Formats: sequence, C-alpha cells, structure tokens
Amino acid sequence: MRELSTVDTVGVVGAGTMGNGIAQVAAAAGYDVVMRDIEQEFVENGFDAIESSLSRLDAKGELDEAPSTIRDRIAGTTDLADLTDADLVVEAALEDMEIKQDVFGELERITDDDVVLATNTSTLSITTIASVTDREELVVGLHFMNPVPVMRGVEVVIGEKTDPAVGELAHAFAEDLGKETWESDDKPGFVTNRVLMPWINEGIRAYDEGVATKEDMDKGMKLGTNVPMGPLELADHIGLDICLDASRTLHEELGDRYKPAYLLKRKVDAGDLGKKTGKGFYEYD
Ligand code: NAD
Repeated sequence: MRELSTVDTVGVVGAGTMGNGIAQVAAAAGYDVVMRDIEQEFVENGFDAIESSLSRLDAKGELDEAPSTIRDRIAGTTDLADLTDADLVVEAALEDMEIKQDVFGELERITDDDVVLATNTSTLSITTIASVTDREELVVGLHFMNPVPVMRGVEVVIGEKTDPAVGELAHAFAEDLGKETWESDDKPGFVTNRVLMPWINEGIRAYDEGVATKEDMDKGMKLGTNVPMGPLELADHIGLDICLDASRTLHEELGDRYKPAYLLKRKVDAGDLGKKTGKGFYEYD
C-alpha cells in the first residue's frame, strides 16, 4: 500500500456535486489533483462550482491561500488515462454499480498496484465494487458529505476484504483535508444514508399525501426538530436522482420499509433533479 506521506497526486473521478467538492478540498490541503468527467462541459461546470465556492470561502477569510493558487493545483480531463500517475483515487461518479465497477476495473488497469482506490458511494457495497479488481484489500469507502467544502464529516466504510491499514489511511487522508471521520461496516446505506433516506422518503410521501405544503413540511421539520434543512429541501440539495438510486439500493437490500416514494420517482422521470437542474421540489436560479 502507498503510504499517505508519499501521496502527492489525488485522482478524482466525476466532476459533479461531490467530485468537484472533493477536488477542491484536496487541492486546498496542498495535493495536486486530476479531476475527470466524461464530457468537457461537465469538467468545466465542475471548475465553475470550485471557483464560486473558493471565492465564497475567501470572502469569509476561510482560506490560507489565494483561490487561484488552490484552483491551479487542479487539472481537468475527460481521459481516465490521465489518472495514471495518481497516488490515491477517489471515485465520485454516478450511484450505479455497473458504472462504478467499470471505473474500478479501468482504474486498476491504469494505476500502480499499490494505489488505494476509494469510492464516495452513498449506499452501494464497497465489497461488490472491489470484486471486479485484483486489489480488493486496497478498496475503501470514503463517503464525503454535501457540500464537501462545508461539511466536516467523512464516513469511512470498510469492505469485507479492505485491509485495516487502508481504513487507517482513509481516516488519515480525510483528517488531512480538515475533516472528522467515523467508521461504518459495509452494510447498505452505512450509518448516514440508512437513517437519512427513510426520513427523506417519508417527508416526500407525507407531502404527496397532502399532509402539508412543501414549505410547511420543511418548516415543521426545521423548527420542530432543529435540523438545518427539511426533507424536501435536503432532497433537492442532494439531487433527486441520487436520492432515488440510494433508496432503490436500500429497498432491494433491506425490504419494503425502504421503498422509494412515488413522487420521488415521478420527479426524476420528469428530469427535475433538484438544485443541479434548477428545479426539484423548489425552483432555483
Ligand atoms: P452528480 O450527478 O452531481 O455527478 C456525477 C458526475 O459523474 C457527473 O458529472 C457525471 O457526468 C459523472 N460521471 C458519470 N460516469 C462517469 C465516469 N465513468 N467517469 C467519470 N465521471 C463520470 O452526482 P454526485 O451528487 O456528485 O454523486 C456522485 C457520487 O457521490 C454518487 O455515488 C453519490 O451517491 C455519492 N454521494 C452523493 C452525495 C450528494 O449529496 N449528492 C453525498 C454523498 C455521496
């Protein structure tokens, strides 16, 4: 296993909501980053999000360096082969087992044998993702929270074959990015989404069944239970497609109490995915 002290370059697969956030916090911690998406437009959107986030943090005096210095540590690409020299890779592509296994198969082929391959999956099995590689002991879950530059926590997920030393490296890497960590076994949804997704789905169902307006549903949960966002607002923030994929995995693995809300499926079918498409339960500029 490549030690953290020898990690200079971090590869990030996916430049969406999570990938660009992970690229940003790794660059802010001094790592060189190569961020890959499948289309140039998605890579550019990733950079736009990074630049806006860095200027917001800079305005609040929360950066140790100029935003441009941090931004310039990140290279964008559409070619996965550009991750060949990465010393550690974090995958944040879509929540789809086939896509993740394809990516891990390719990553194994192009990176050195001792490089740790981490996945940011919300609910999928680390063990199943790792099974397509000959490097199962070096595959680990590194589950960042959204928005990555703001949220302090990272969940480390240990697969059936993950080497304990790789788990330790995952904790140390996240801590080096200024995060605090906890550990979960490789069970559907881990700690966070196992508990969060039923809450979100019940909020959507209750709204769909006319219990309250969407505004009152969110207001009630915020003021009534002291959470920063209500279920509908949080679902828009996460991405309704991501919520649906995560809910489907939990339903498949854990049964009917995790069945996705019908309205969640209908919104995703309509292409209203939340903040990232400008419309979900609410509308965004
Ligand atoms: P997103 O839709 O914002 O971004 C995903 C990106 O991956 C897209 O830009 C897509 O083009 C790209 N992509 C697809 N296939 C690819 C490939 N083969 N190589 C490179 N890029 C590819 O999704 P997201 O919210 O960033 O989620 C990414 C992962 O992080 C998912 O596994 C998700 O479950 C997990 N996650 C999401 C959240 C959240 O709140 N959104 C939180 C924690 C974990």
